[in-house]
Amino acid sequence: MAQLTDIHALILDMDGVLWRQNQPIGDLPEIFNIIKSNQLKVTLATNNASLSIAQYLEKLRNFDVHLKPEEIINSSQVLLRYLIQRFPEGGNLYIIGENGLKETLTQDKFKISEDNVFAVAVGMDLHLNYEKLCRATLLIRAGAAFVATNADKTFPTPQGLVPGVGAILACLETASGVSPHVVGKPAPEIYEMAMQRMGVSPQETLVVGDRLETDIVGAQKLGCKTALVLSGVTDLSTAQKWIPAPDIIAKDLSSVLETLTKPHG
Ligand SMILES: [Mg+2]
Repeated sequence: MAQLTDIHALILDMDGVLWRQNQPIGDLPEIFNIIKSNQLKVTLATNNASLSIAQYLEKLRNFDVHLKPEEIINSSQVLLRYLIQRFPEGGNLYIIGENGLKETLTQDKFKISEDNVFAVAVGMDLHLNYEKLCRATLLIRAGAAFVATNADKTFPTPQGLVPGVGAILACLETASGVSPHVVGKPAPEIYEMAMQRMGVSPQETLVVGDRLETDIVGAQKLGCKTALVLSGVTDLSTAQKWIPAPDIIAKDLSSVLETLTKPHG
């Protein structure tokens, strides 16, 4: 067991950690009371870009959890920052994704269009159809940059695992012969943004996630402490085989907090 007495900040994944779609995992108001009463800084960081920050705040309010906008980061914010760095002059984007992604990416100097497109941006799209896949493929084949919020293969629902952005990317990659640039975890940008906002170092930060190859790998690359929860996409035997092992493997976020706030012998 890793030394956890020096943890001052938490970075929490959302899907599979806080909820499965609209079903909360555990008593969320109580969980956030424990976090605040132990003076832990917190940032929610998700690869899921289908909701905007305002929509996440509203979703949290519906669970009686009240956070500030700066306590949430999603991969669409990281993607916007990447696009501004790579294409500082702005331009037209073709987007496969939900309104949350479209709103975030068009906040600055980019517009949605099907003409003169310099980049195809892909996120979770619950209304994906063949026509969108055709259009994106043709644009990428014509030379548009191919970028994505994340490459999660699946995401958890109360019924089980369903296709994630990674499954959409696999289709476009096969059809276009081009690999996407992906900004979401396990790329380090989301965690770096979160720690910068909280003013903490990796050594004093515990990252909690349900997915080994994204949440845990990304955090380990930066030297953060890690907790894998079994309330999402990963089962115990898979978690136990993972090398390097997460610092904590726990049933859910409540159990992680119990481990963290228990007096150390
Ligand atoms: Mg997750």
